[in-house]
Amino acid sequence: MNAIIISIGTELTTGQCLDTNAQWLSQRLTDLGGHVQSHVTVSDDVAKIAEAFRLAMSGADVVIATGGLGPTPDDLSREALSLALKEPLETDEIALKQLKSFFISLNRPMPPANLSQATRPKGCEMIPNPRGTAPGISHSSHSKHFFLLPGVPSEMKAMYEQSIEPLIAQHSSGARTVRSRLSVLGISEARLGDTLGNLMVPGRNPSVGTTAADGIISIRIVARGSSESEAQDLLKKDVQEVRSRLGEAVFGENEDTVASVVGHMLLDRGLTIATAESCTGGLIAKRLTDVPGSSRYFKEGFILYHNSTKSSRLGIPADLIDRDGAVSESVARAMAEGCRAVSGCDFSISTTGIAGPGGGCPPDKPVGLVYVGLAREDKTVAKRLMLGEHLTRDEIRDRTCHAALNMLRLWLIESR
Ligand code: AMP
Ligand code: MG
Repeated sequence: MNAIIISIGTELTTGQCLDTNAQWLSQRLTDLGGHVQSHVTVSDDVAKIAEAFRLAMSGADVVIATGGLGPTPDDLSREALSLALKEPLETDEIALKQLKSFFISLNRPMPPANLSQATRPKGCEMIPNPRGTAPGISHSSHSKHFFLLPGVPSEMKAMYEQSIEPLIAQHSSGARTVRSRLSVLGISEARLGDTLGNLMVPGRNPSVGTTAADGIISIRIVARGSSESEAQDLLKKDVQEVRSRLGEAVFGENEDTVASVVGHMLLDRGLTIATAESCTGGLIAKRLTDVPGSSRYFKEGFILYHNSTKSSRLGIPADLIDRDGAVSESVARAMAEGCRAVSGCDFSISTTGIAGPGGGCPPDKPVGLVYVGLAREDKTVAKRLMLGEHLTRDEIRDRTCHAALNMLRLWLIESR
């Protein structure tokens, strides 16, 4: 199955809005064994849209176009389809009824401009829209399928899943693509390449590739098979292989975050945690509480930004801060221990560092120097991170957060 995706809208061609529809649709079509041969982006110009429709319909088995179905004058996809098919626009009575009852359910009069949304070129069918006023339009001939959907991503996705995917799945050969993403911390991309080398050769099935962002490396595994179960088997084998080669460096799969993984571990073991943050300004507490249900293990977080509060809130001796500086191993340890004592939690995490851009004192205390402290009943540790002076303030705080949560994860594994 060859496919072309057409994205319509001047907001796309002028760069105001990123075309996420084409990305999402491409993944879904590829998963069904389809071959997406091109993405086409067209501005709100009726002649150009019609031309793109004609070209795509002659060149692919499946065409999915999104955008330009709204009620405003710049929404021209219906007219363009009418031009491309050389069929007049007519009102679809069922769609009109649905449109009217949609406005009745909102207890609002229907603006006359919405009437155009119940029209489609003669010989086409409407695609119901469970989330909005604009139905989609489909056209099939000689086992070629054309679909036009609204540009609003949530509507487009719901309609694709409800009305288009089942149809395409029926026509596809049965071949399937499945994918998984493993997330890794604490190992360089180069070392990862060495460890996974033979799995990453071009052309191999499954394909294994890595991308790095924010200090986390993602390993993407994509498996193709002549059936869903064949593809799943291949994927599962590679996921196991990668996990066994990398061990504890792999912290999660797909949507997992370090915070969600740590949260599950704490919850499973009935443990609690509190945070004492300086340079991360509450970011670790934020990440921990991003996870639904985190109140079962996260008790409280201190943001101890000024030196005086480190002493007044957690009882860290002022002369310790004077002697070693706020950014020091001893203060990180004292913050973690103080936080654990005050909160009564099983574990605590602390951070103190220089997030920049100012405030660095090289060579001893450059921007990017961070200490992370961890305390539990029998032990306190502090780790010195040199994140690098080239990083931005946001990057330093973000990476500190990942590193601290990952330290906690490894500690939880070790103390199991
Ligand atoms: P439209 O259906 O053309 O009225 O589009 C409605 C809104 O959906 C636009 O204003 C964009 O915010 C969004 N949108 C349209 N096309 C896309 C696309 N290809 N990717 C992401 N968002 C889109
Ligand atoms: Mg538009």
